[in-house]
Amino acid sequence: MPNIPVIIIAILAAALVAWILLRKRTGAARQADVSAPNAPSETLENGRRRIPESEHQIPRRYLDDNAMKVVYRLEDADHEGYLVGGCIRDLLRGLKPKDFDIATSAHPEEAEELFRRGRLIGRRFKLLHVRFGREVIEVATFRASHDQGEAGREQARTADTGMILRDNVYGTIEEDALRRDFTVNALYYDAKDHSILDFAGGYDDLKNNRLRMIGDANARYREDPVRMLRAARFAAKLGFEIESDTAEPIRELAPLMRNVSPARLFDEVLKLLQSGHGEASYRQLQRFGLFQYLFPLTDQALESDDYPVETLLINALCNTDRRLAQNKSVTPAFLFAALLWYPLQLRMRELEAAGTDLPPIPLLHEAANQVLGEQVKCTAIPRRFSTPVREIWELQLRLPRRQGKKADQLMEHPRFRAAYDLLLLRENSGEDLGGLSQWWTDYQVANPVSRREMMPEEQSDRPKRKRRRRPRKRPNQPPQGE
Ligand code: ATP
Ligand code: MG
Repeated sequence: MPNIPVIIIAILAAALVAWILLRKRTGAARQADVSAPNAPSETLENGRRRIPESEHQIPRRYLDDNAMKVVYRLEDADHEGYLVGGCIRDLLRGLKPKDFDIATSAHPEEAEELFRRGRLIGRRFKLLHVRFGREVIEVATFRASHDQGEAGREQARTADTGMILRDNVYGTIEEDALRRDFTVNALYYDAKDHSILDFAGGYDDLKNNRLRMIGDANARYREDPVRMLRAARFAAKLGFEIESDTAEPIRELAPLMRNVSPARLFDEVLKLLQSGHGEASYRQLQRFGLFQYLFPLTDQALESDDYPVETLLINALCNTDRRLAQNKSVTPAFLFAALLWYPLQLRMRELEAAGTDLPPIPLLHEAANQVLGEQVKCTAIPRRFSTPVREIWELQLRLPRRQGKKADQLMEHPRFRAAYDLLLLRENSGEDLGGLSQWWTDYQVANPVSRREMMPEEQSDRPKRKRRRRPRKRPNQPPQGE
């Protein structure tokens, strides 16, 4: 007969041991128990400054658990590990970080050995991705900029324009801080005492709402022209003033955007226009003459007096910002369909003027091929988005034709919702569609009887084909009069 109390005690003891081990492993115990020194901010050697927790006051509960696990794991293996970049900047601004990045003294292969769920990736430089369910924590080895690396290290290659092609040059934490773009992006959170390390004056800049490039802005934009887009984006997102030396070179260097790959620019466009501050980003892009390198056809269309190009563009971006603020989904397909709608109209007109004799829908597809073909030279558009863009456009031509069963069939179309949204935007922006968007708004909520009453008369835009009557076979009748 088993001794039940002993079994229960054994189970409880095992559970306690497991719990203690788990806490130790995750570092959660450390996060909760270590109290920060209440010391004032100190200036250390090399202008480095340490800001204690009592001063920066980032609540520990906002630090991502998984990111902290990664930092503690690195430290346990005698490496340095810090939360760095946008996450610290955003936490100090009271914003929710989009992702948590980690900088470490461990080389990528050393870091990889520590994480079962780690995977080395590397396009421009080697990084470790540590996966926790759907969350991915990015771990990057401290890097020096190409002209700082110690002798014997792999040298970065630069193009004639000064652009960095490859920069796998490992370095110290100071070097890592100085090769980052803006001072507010070079703050390191030290999990050992919960202080922040600042190598470039980013903490003060952040408190003063100032975006400042580390080093010589002109050279830093030449090294990587995407930094110009990042300047526009952070100014918009954070509501920061761009410091004059940082702002000044952008307009002149904007043409360097042509050297950036379309795939990278597509990613940047989404961060600029689909992260909740699209309208503000658009204004910054225009302020610096950068928009034309992302959407050249849209930028040209802004000159046209025939269409409300900028109104629709601003309305589309405000709409996207509002949806994101309400945690609603947004899709790049809608954004591209809206931004390129008038370039498409202009191209259709040009084709017609050149004598193309295509019916409306094939004409639209021909213009769509040309417009999208030119757009992908600047920003890649993956096929999973370009196909829906064409469908949203085609539906703009089909939405006016809603007689009989067509209206209900259109509503079944997978892109109906997006197409209806574009129709609304067009009419709200000043296009005269004869109240078509209101009709569709009403139709969607009407009951079947009202829907029948709403049905418009058959449209006369298509010439009605006369139905030929087949001569009816008459039964053999005796001729009249017989
Ligand atoms: P967010 O994630 O909100 O878009 P972020 O600043 O975190 O902003 P990431 O692209 O995630 O941007 O980059 C992480 C960090 O890497 C940055 O904060 C910055 O320190 C550094 N960094 C990113 N891109 C560059 C760049 N082009 N040049 C120099 N440093 C960069
Ligand atoms: Mg980030």
